[in-house]
Amino acid sequence: MNAAKKARNRVTPVVAKRFARVSGAFVVAVALAIGAGQASAPAYAVDYPSWSDVQAAQSSETAKQAEIAKIKGLIAGLASETAAAQALAQQRGNDYQEAQSKFDTATVQAGELKADAEAKQAKADASIKQAGQLAAMMARSGGGALSVNLLVADSSQAQALLYQLGAMSQLTGSTAKIYAVAERDSNEASLATAQAKVAADALGALAAAADALRQQAVEAQQALESSLQTEKSHQVDLETQLAVLSQNRVATAADYQAGVNARAAQAAAEAAAAAAAAAATRGSGGGSSYANSSGWANPLPGSHSSDEFGMRVNPVDGGYRLHAGIDLTYNGGTCGAPVYAAGGGTVTYAGYNGGLGNNVQISHGDGILTSYGHNTSLAVSYGQQVDAGQLIAYAGTTGNSTGCHVHFETRVDGVPQNPRGFMADRGVNF
Ligand SMILES: [Zn+2]
Repeated sequence: MNAAKKARNRVTPVVAKRFARVSGAFVVAVALAIGAGQASAPAYAVDYPSWSDVQAAQSSETAKQAEIAKIKGLIAGLASETAAAQALAQQRGNDYQEAQSKFDTATVQAGELKADAEAKQAKADASIKQAGQLAAMMARSGGGALSVNLLVADSSQAQALLYQLGAMSQLTGSTAKIYAVAERDSNEASLATAQAKVAADALGALAAAADALRQQAVEAQQALESSLQTEKSHQVDLETQLAVLSQNRVATAADYQAGVNARAAQAAAEAAAAAAAAAATRGSGGGSSYANSSGWANPLPGSHSSDEFGMRVNPVDGGYRLHAGIDLTYNGGTCGAPVYAAGGGTVTYAGYNGGLGNNVQISHGDGILTSYGHNTSLAVSYGQQVDAGQLIAYAGTTGNSTGCHVHFETRVDGVPQNPRGFMADRGVNF
């Protein structure tokens, strides 16, 4: 349900009687003001009072009090709408980051289990081969027939050999020990392989969960922006109308112009911010991109790494999990430093993201994604196209962070890669 619908359901419309005692000149001026207001915000179907409603309400104390109550309700409603949207966006950001972190850590652990299973399998293969050589000697000295090729190539053949060895009645003393070792190694390898498979199988569901929560976080972020926009576009009008009613005075041209001016100022400020962001792009503001010939750039040029990619005990909450990126800082202080897109692409996330704080993510195609965490503020929005070396944010310490830095991640098909190697392959070294 969108914000406008919610507000419409919540607000009980106060029917203000229209009195005919309003002067002709005022009606014309009000009609113009209403026209301007509607042109700038036609999307809202909420029953916001017009200036003629305000004027009409003043002709009776009851109507005036009702109108005051309605306007106060609308102001409070807009504020609580925004607060709720803010809380939801925060919650969704936390949920998303938690799910993403679970997937990242599980990916590393699944990799470790796979390596462990492979090592155990190699050990088991060697043990079985040794047992096989023993069995071959026994067979040659008349101990029994072995149908399996002793130069075991794969583990299913090795298992068959082991089974046959176990069935041989001559297994005694040191012979039995060699068989027992091979059997134990083989069992350990089977168990480790099964564990690795369980871990690998779980990754798909964890990735899907993180993806779904990511989408919800994006939606909550957009709902918050829309709610803030709605609040901004109505606040001045409502407060001015409330002042006119509370002071029991006649609305002046300046009163109904206040909202128009506020909306114009808001639009101008947004345009100026967009222009400033556009002007500040392309590298360090020199006007040309500092991206290298491969089309990649250092997100924090001239910085050094203060923490590397890898499993670690988190410095803030003490949890043992993957640090899925590299931390970039300047010696002289990183707070407010411009952060640049490492490559060209589409902004797929621009908002609060739990432990990563204010986060920008850029999709570069071919499953490649870069992510920039802990920013103090963002200079791009969801869906925006950016070039390599374009300003995207200002560094900070929002989220799970102990000081201003850029937490920079590189991912391929959602799986975190060490940015050091990933970027070195693209000509950028930290
Ligand atoms: Zn970090």
